[in-house]
Amino acid sequence: MKNTLLTISVLLTMSSLVNAQQTAKPEDTEQWTPVPVKVDPGNATKAPSDAIVLFDGKNLNQWISPKTGETAPWIVENGIFTVKPGTGNIRTREKFADCQLHIEWRTPAGIKGEGQDRGNSGIFFMEKYELQVLDNYTNVTYSNGQAGSIYKQFIPLVNACRKEGEWQTYDVIFTAPKFNADGSLLSPARITVLHNNVLVQNNVSLKGATEYIGQPSYSAHGPLGIELQDHSHKVSYRNIWIRKL
Ligand code: MG
Repeated sequence: MKNTLLTISVLLTMSSLVNAQQTAKPEDTEQWTPVPVKVDPGNATKAPSDAIVLFDGKNLNQWISPKTGETAPWIVENGIFTVKPGTGNIRTREKFADCQLHIEWRTPAGIKGEGQDRGNSGIFFMEKYELQVLDNYTNVTYSNGQAGSIYKQFIPLVNACRKEGEWQTYDVIFTAPKFNADGSLLSPARITVLHNNVLVQNNVSLKGATEYIGQPSYSAHGPLGIELQDHSHKVSYRNIWIRKL
């Protein structure tokens, strides 16, 4: 009797599943809104239509020297710009939080030096979190300080470096940290980095602001600029655009 009841209930369940599948339509799981905004994706030399172009090859009007507040004094020449050693970092006038950044960089051909003293620069998200720029085609340094690393925090998954003197790309998805009203950390910054189109950082959660010495930590802040590092090396940049997310 028990077995018969069990069999009947299994059969009923099966038949209702079959019925549900027969009555369900493909349209039931289609979503037609919202409709994604149309964007011209651009190409290797043209930014997507909804991006803010941070350097178009002509001038550094979108960048300042944080030391002086004046327009960034680095050298603009032939559609690219180059660190002017000793003038300090440069920073975007506009502030950003969550963003997608495309940036191209080149370490100088024929550079001397080794370790950290070889084509060193860097991209600071929110003025605090450094994605390292360095020549590591063959140059060896500590792994969490080489190109593609989140400096002193995360080793790149692979070494995707091109040779010194060759242009390289970073495509980055950055998620800003969030803070509670009392200033404590609600959620850490996260970053995904493609170096020359190769994934080197996969949505890692940052440990805090970049520190040269000691452990990183967070202190509450809102949107801030993108900063490029003057590490006394003539590293060049071009074709920089950003999309707010
Ligand atoms: Mg650096």
